[in-house]
Amino acid sequence: MSQSNNQQWPKTALGFFPTPFHELPNFSALYPENRVFIKRDDLTGLATGGNKTRKLEYLIGDAMARGANSIITAGAQQSNHCRQTAAACAMKGLKCHLLLGGQKPETYTGNLLLSHLLGAHIHFTGDNRKGEDIRPLMEKLRQAGDKPYEVPYGGSNLTGAMGFVEAAGELQQQLKDHDLNIDYIFFASSSGAMQAGLMLGMELYGMEAVLMPVNIDKEELADNKLENHMQALCKEGKEKLALKDPDKPVAMPLIHDFDKSGYGVVTQNETDAIRQLARHEGIILDPVYTARAFYGMMHYLGSGLLKKQANVLFWHTGGIPATMHYAEELTRL
Ligand SMILES: *Cc1c(COP(=O)(O)O)cnc(C)c1O
Repeated sequence: MSQSNNQQWPKTALGFFPTPFHELPNFSALYPENRVFIKRDDLTGLATGGNKTRKLEYLIGDAMARGANSIITAGAQQSNHCRQTAAACAMKGLKCHLLLGGQKPETYTGNLLLSHLLGAHIHFTGDNRKGEDIRPLMEKLRQAGDKPYEVPYGGSNLTGAMGFVEAAGELQQQLKDHDLNIDYIFFASSSGAMQAGLMLGMELYGMEAVLMPVNIDKEELADNKLENHMQALCKEGKEKLALKDPDKPVAMPLIHDFDKSGYGVVTQNETDAIRQLARHEGIILDPVYTARAFYGMMHYLGSGLLKKQANVLFWHTGGIPATMHYAEELTRL
């Protein structure tokens, strides 16, 4: 991106980029009509990696540019976003406050355990699961002389989405280097910033692949909440990136055929996906996000719904520590 963009979007390096891009030869062989590739955002760094690293490079960059000394964010106890925020804060010498829904468990596991090891101050917020308590805590910290900065739930504002505007350009360069075209991009969509960022980035860089976002949390769909949020991000992003027609609503693809069991519920779909990728390619999917999205892709690959000879990309968004939290369900796999 240009110099002026760099000033508008201060950024701090937190991960290893570009993330690897490669073919899945053994898995592809199951679908002779298609070639299947993977983008490895599970390998971004930040205490086992994940897609939030891209958002945090912009969010923490913004916080540091504003002179903040502490970061506040919120999520579920197994939030990958909170764990990567805790790691970013440790790297940059910032205090980290995590507001996590539910009660304090006796033993920490998965992402919660890592957030604790990374030195985050963890506040258990009971039924306030989506950051309702951020503002009161900000006020309290300010009164104590801190300079807190709020990272929204899931890192899901335009600043965070800029990480995926940039990611589109990163993928475009890798496709050029491999002399390849990708027809479809499958990934897990939840708070909407990855999706909005990729949509903006693909427009900015003139890329033509069809996005196939697999919805994870059906509750986000109520009252068009997620759709409205993504529309707002796209409008603001188009204005700031000087793209055309910022006021025109964009077509917002979202596959909701695989979210019926509810957020964080591991079904046969997820275990099928985990088994396939682990045993054909030696790559681990998490049971909440990436396995649900990968299963969605398997469904499309097996159904004849994709165009013939299509090249298909799966964007791996991380989530590995959650696997350890779901040991009971996955032991039965
Ligand atoms: C947060 C997350 C997503 C979804 O990204 P959003 O930008 O919130 O839509 C997908 N996969 C994993 C593993 C995540 O942690």
